[in-house]
Amino acid sequence: MTQITSAPHTSDLAAALAADVLERLQRYVRIDTQSDRAHAQSPSTPGQLELGRLLVEELRAIGLSDAAQDANGFVTATLAGNVPDAPVIGLLAHLDTTPDESGAGVEPLVHRCYDGGTIELPRRGTVLDPARMPELEAKVGHDIVTASGDTLLGADDKAGMAEVMAAVAHMAAHPELPRATVRVGFTPDEEIGQGAHLFDIEAFGAVCAYTLDGSEAGEFTDETFTAASADVTIHGVEVHPGMATGKLVNAARLAGRVLAALPQDRLTPESTSGRDGFIHVHRVAATPGRARIETIVRDFDHDRLAEHVALLRRIAEDVVATEPRARLELEVKQQYPNMRAFLDERPEVSAAAEQALRREGFEPRRVPIRGGTDGSILSARGLPTPNLFTGGHEYHSVREWASVQDMASAAAVAVRLVGIWAEGGPARE
Ligand SMILES: [Zn+2]
Repeated sequence: MTQITSAPHTSDLAAALAADVLERLQRYVRIDTQSDRAHAQSPSTPGQLELGRLLVEELRAIGLSDAAQDANGFVTATLAGNVPDAPVIGLLAHLDTTPDESGAGVEPLVHRCYDGGTIELPRRGTVLDPARMPELEAKVGHDIVTASGDTLLGADDKAGMAEVMAAVAHMAAHPELPRATVRVGFTPDEEIGQGAHLFDIEAFGAVCAYTLDGSEAGEFTDETFTAASADVTIHGVEVHPGMATGKLVNAARLAGRVLAALPQDRLTPESTSGRDGFIHVHRVAATPGRARIETIVRDFDHDRLAEHVALLRRIAEDVVATEPRARLELEVKQQYPNMRAFLDERPEVSAAAEQALRREGFEPRRVPIRGGTDGSILSARGLPTPNLFTGGHEYHSVREWASVQDMASAAAVAVRLVGIWAEGGPARE
């Protein structure tokens, strides 16, 4: 038997931050902040206000006396810089967790010095199997945080939140470290795509911001999907089936033909990866009188996204054209854009993040996200906001886990980033 030794931290700074990051994560995940697509107000659920109030108290205790929560549930605070003429930069994380898996009654567990084997959680027979999780397999010696098997952990994005808080607390306690002015922002309802639209960029007053909402240590994201929803509605002619001869036009059957005509082994989420986009049918509701097919359409490229939408339109038109008494509607809504085009206009923003990763000992990996972040919308709205890793994995599931060592590294990256901006921005390399 070989004795497993604890994985080393990436730096003394990360080692100094680890206990605080873990303690904060354990506290924040116990508050249920699942967002709710069915609610129209902001935030969509009261738990997000409760967590926000706790964060305001903690920010004030750290010394950020302007910490406040606004009517929409956004929490903001300022850590004044100590270097003249340094820019103001933002550090962001989101308050909510996904509505798609239970987030109530989260009981976090810490598995110290992971031995590389299967982690069995106490409830619901939930198992973390390293054979199916290469990222976990690589964390031998790390301290792994999980939930108890019947809820998500909420590391998405409470790991990011704990890292921002620990980084800010550390900088406030160490005024000898040169720092730019930091604006902290915690946003509601990211998981339901609502928060960033209501974010008051002007009041925030930062030249750029960074979300801590990624995953594997060392990863950095300046590229997300560009996203639209496309909903097909088919109107038929409803008639009592006993008197339907020659009259009934069945919208439900027409919808079935549209579904059958869509690509099956390409352009679907299950058949694509990397940079390939898709049309994802996520809800179908149909009666003979009216049928509705709800889809989301995704790609990294704006023109290819438009091609996917055009394909859906052409298929639906061709099917419905076979029945002149049926009528077709297609409703397309842009949801969020790929942040890349906006970040390319301000290359120093991503360069600073990469430099911070290097200072913490990582070779930065730019990974496009097959999804969106608050930064997708914020970047399009004029606040360039790429995304940094948090150390959390298996998001939106009862198997969600996070590495304490990686979370500490993420907090250290945030401290180094603020230092880089205090130096006037990234050095040319
Ligand atoms: Zn997230």
